[in-house]
Amino acid sequence: MLAENLKAVQKKIKEACQRSGRSAEDVTLVAVSKTKPNEMIEELYAAGHRDFGENYIQELRAKHEALPKDIRWHMIGHLQRNKVKYIAEYITMIHSVDTFELAQTIEKEAAKHDRVIPVLIEVNVAGEDTKYGVRPEDAEALIERISHLPHVRVSGLMTSAPYVENPEEDRIYFRNLRNLSVDIEDKKLDNVTVGALSMGMSNDYEIAVEEGSTMVRVGTSIFGERDYSKK
Ligand SMILES: *Cc1c(COP(=O)(O)O)cnc(C)c1O
Repeated sequence: MLAENLKAVQKKIKEACQRSGRSAEDVTLVAVSKTKPNEMIEELYAAGHRDFGENYIQELRAKHEALPKDIRWHMIGHLQRNKVKYIAEYITMIHSVDTFELAQTIEKEAAKHDRVIPVLIEVNVAGEDTKYGVRPEDAEALIERISHLPHVRVSGLMTSAPYVENPEEDRIYFRNLRNLSVDIEDKKLDNVTVGALSMGMSNDYEIAVEEGSTMVRVGTSIFGERDYSKK
């Protein structure tokens, strides 16, 4: 049952928190439901879960329409500027902002709904060519520019570590993201906090929590493997 998978993940988060002297309340578990049917989300909703992550706008829109309105939807995938308008009214957080132009579009669409949208800056900590995200050395300048947009609120940083057999190898990237957030926090930019750290997926979330993650994005360990052939 999915609720049991959810519980098992929550337990591991709690244990990782205990190992590192943190409180489990400081970590939000975002259940990544991309490609998974509404019935599965409803099952977790019935178990009390409210934070769900999606990557594809079309899918997110359909799920938002069909499912309870108190679900907190997180946009975690690469976001095209022309799609922002479809989610601006309700999205809880956009985890994947890596250009000023995207932030400007979010500003425009958020203003239309008279709301401030919390965003995370996606950082490519491992320098992988295949990944989206700003280079670590460019993060602060990007955040400074975005901080002047009144309807966009920079709340933290996000990263996806490389896929590795041994998740210990990703520890350094999580630590680097945390250090980067501490450096930026020290600059005390107006309208900016970077306390939120969205890092850790099914294969490495325990290590991410040990290294200070405040939001883990877990799909497979809760929902099982994804089947992209059906899409
Ligand atoms: C799909 C996805 C996840 C979840 O990955 P799992 O390995 O299934 O836990 C997390 N973050 C992002 C950005 C994703 O695209």
